[in-house]
Amino acid sequence: MTGGSWEADADGVEQAVRTGALPGWHQVETDVVDAYQRYRSRTSGIVADYIPTLADADPELFGISVAEVGGAVHVAGEADAEFSIQSISKAFVYAMVCDELGHHLVRERVGVNNTGLSFNSVIAIELNDGHPMNPMVNAGALATSALVPGATPAEQWERIRTGLSQFAGRQLELDGEVYHSEMLTNERNQAIARLLQSYGRIDGDPLDVVDIYTRQCSLKVSARDIAIMGATLADGGVNPVTGDRVVSPQVCRDTLSVLAATGMYERSGEWLFEIGLPAKSGVSGGIVAIAPGKGAIGTFSPRLDSAGNSVRGQRATAYLSRTLGLNVFASAAHPTEREGSR
Ligand code: GLU
Repeated sequence: MTGGSWEADADGVEQAVRTGALPGWHQVETDVVDAYQRYRSRTSGIVADYIPTLADADPELFGISVAEVGGAVHVAGEADAEFSIQSISKAFVYAMVCDELGHHLVRERVGVNNTGLSFNSVIAIELNDGHPMNPMVNAGALATSALVPGATPAEQWERIRTGLSQFAGRQLELDGEVYHSEMLTNERNQAIARLLQSYGRIDGDPLDVVDIYTRQCSLKVSARDIAIMGATLADGGVNPVTGDRVVSPQVCRDTLSVLAATGMYERSGEWLFEIGLPAKSGVSGGIVAIAPGKGAIGTFSPRLDSAGNSVRGQRATAYLSRTLGLNVFASAAHPTEREGSR
């Protein structure tokens, strides 16, 4: 991903914001299908293989979904293909923990600043006196999962599964193959958890925390699921499909601000600059981008760029951010709103 290509990609689609709601149902439907057609032939990027099972993913899969705060859900391509949620889980477990324990405690224990280093960096912990820095890198995610209420690791895991299922509006299941594959190869996460323990940053057995965290990353979701999960954060914490309140509006605001600063690995600044939406991606190829008060975009395509972000997912999200008028920093009115008001 280099500077300039974003502009070429946008093909003259203006960076404008809808000050009110999304465009009408038919327009969103058309834009989602357009985004799919436009980027389906892109084959650049590499499927992640550091967790052995992930390498088996079909690189051709490409699904897009937009979930609106009003409850409408749009899909194109393989929007119901399942993949392990991986790091996208970090956003939603963070929201759950903030809801349970409050803004201040979580901010103090986990932090909110970008490390500028890779998601599984050990040096970042050392450079910051043992502070995990933010909940979207592995150190911070482990520290966050350790805070999930529960008398035993099994209770904590059940709490996580129930909470993420409420965000998705359906019961999410563990992908046992991904979980076992990662548990056999996650020495680095074990080391990070031990290091945090040595700094007094996690209570309890660090290996139990790694186990819970690996399970949360192995929950199966689709592009449709992550769009609905994101739309719950866009909707002040109410799942727009089920109508259930999952977290408070304050927690949504806190979570989205953390995602804006840290959600797209070490490309978070570039992402915000080009696309202007809080988002989270994961190494299995999912991306969820949230437009507060409007809805969320969920994409899935396994080929990743060098930072670990899905190539097609980024492009499709950038396109939809522009056509739907979602960039939270744009102050020019969207062309269709301009027509309507003059
Ligand atoms: N479970 C993966 C890990 O801890 C998640 C990585 C990611 O999606 O960024 O390495």
